Amino acid sequence: MQRSKIADILREEPVNSEVLVKGWVKAFRNNQFIALNDGSTASNLQVVVDFERFDAATLDRIKFGACISATGTLVESQGKGQKVELKTEVLEILGDCNPDEYPLQPKKQSPEFLRENAHLRFRTNTFSAVFRIRHALAYAIHKFFNDRGFCYLHTPIITASDAEGAGEMFRVTTLSMENPPRTESGEINFKEDFFGKSTNLTVSGQLEAELGALALGAVYTFGPTFRAENSNTTRHLAEFWMIEPEVAFNDLRDNMDLAEDMLRYVINYALEHCADDLKILEDRLTEEEKTKPQDQRSELSLTEKLKFVSENEFIRLTYTEAIDILRNSNPNKKGKFQFPVEGWGTDLQSEHERYLVEKHFKKPVILTNYPAAIKAFYMRQDEPLEGVPGPTVSAMDILFPGIGEIVGGSQREERYDRLVNRMREMHIPEEELYWYLDTRRFGTCPHAGFGLGFERLVLFVTGMTNIRDVIAFPRYPGSAEF
Ligand code: ATP
Ligand code: MN
Repeated sequence: MQRSKIADILREEPVNSEVLVKGWVKAFRNNQFIALNDGSTASNLQVVVDFERFDAATLDRIKFGACISATGTLVESQGKGQKVELKTEVLEILGDCNPDEYPLQPKKQSPEFLRENAHLRFRTNTFSAVFRIRHALAYAIHKFFNDRGFCYLHTPIITASDAEGAGEMFRVTTLSMENPPRTESGEINFKEDFFGKSTNLTVSGQLEAELGALALGAVYTFGPTFRAENSNTTRHLAEFWMIEPEVAFNDLRDNMDLAEDMLRYVINYALEHCADDLKILEDRLTEEEKTKPQDQRSELSLTEKLKFVSENEFIRLTYTEAIDILRNSNPNKKGKFQFPVEGWGTDLQSEHERYLVEKHFKKPVILTNYPAAIKAFYMRQDEPLEGVPGPTVSAMDILFPGIGEIVGGSQREERYDRLVNRMREMHIPEEELYWYLDTRRFGTCPHAGFGLGFERLVLFVTGMTNIRDVIAFPRYPGSAEF
């Protein structure tokens, strides 16, 4: 007999038919009612065992976390809480679970404890919901780009270019750590390394994506990226997944439109397809909010927050306008910011970004035209803008409530001379990036793209608090368990 998935049974409700289900015991009440979950849905199937028909030894093995197989007839349920239930005829224990040793308990356990037990946390309601939603979002992203004719490009994970400066890199080497080969001047000789040069794990696929875009028109990457930044925050991982579309002939405004459309599309996709899982996470968030002081609680529930983003236009303003708002803001005047906002030209701290989004506009915000000095070399140089104290670039950062920066992007500098000048100013070796510069030498064109941190998106949609809880096995300073 073929196993049925609980999701299918609950959707189709094939009453009076014979079904076989397998899954993990969530609860066992009155020696009679098993709540069974097989991961196909957030909901459990009620499996009813007639204790007179099964021996006590078998019933005694039906413990929280045990894996069982049950065959029987699907009937309409007499009880409240479910429409159908399984009247069990054959019951088999596939895997015992000793409650005295099992780390998970049928009660609320802290996210920290569950993170230490990340190999088992998929089995909790919260984490199974998070990972089903993570899957749905990944699918929605591919669907969004595919439907718009983008080509999915796999950019390399091991890279020899360390010029981009997006973050500290992890070195990849096969050289001996104890006794590495040395050059005559005593430096490590990477010519003898596996690739004949020094290599790292990529921090971004953007530069390679640009090469693709200038032939294929519209491409996107969706792959792992690595940053050895020592930032122990709730928004940074050392290994995270990034989506990087890159489009020929797009300017900054097209780029913003694309990012906004994409975010709205994937959030709507989750609202439409993940209602059960979102309900679990909404309840979790509401409980968590209750532990906060009244004035720090969110006014919106999780689904309200998602609808709010999907139904509202994002506010677009320049960095220079944002600095004015921040400088004149109450927290700045009252000295409440940890980093006071003084002059034009410094990078915004996350407290400033969150003030703009959560307090001032109460909407997602796109900041544009940042000072050139705080942005990457490849961003397109703006013509001098009136009332703006220094040179700016056509950059855009999208800021979300509770998250801060979720997207960072720009129109790229397509003009060879301008690009080379900027690289010289920033001491970026031209020889190493000859392949990048070639696109500007041969058939260059305006183009633009951005990077969306996938985990930051999952964090937003699930309403989880820590980015370490939306990736299966998080890597962060001091931790590479599992
Ligand atoms: P931040 O200022 O938050 O560190 P960044 O300016 O370093 O971000 P970019 O280099 O523009 O970010 O990367 C593009 C996107 O990748 C960001 O908008 C963010 O969503 C995501 N991102 C960047 N660093 C991390 C990280 N360490 N962990 C998870 N996501 C990240
Ligand atoms: Mn960073």
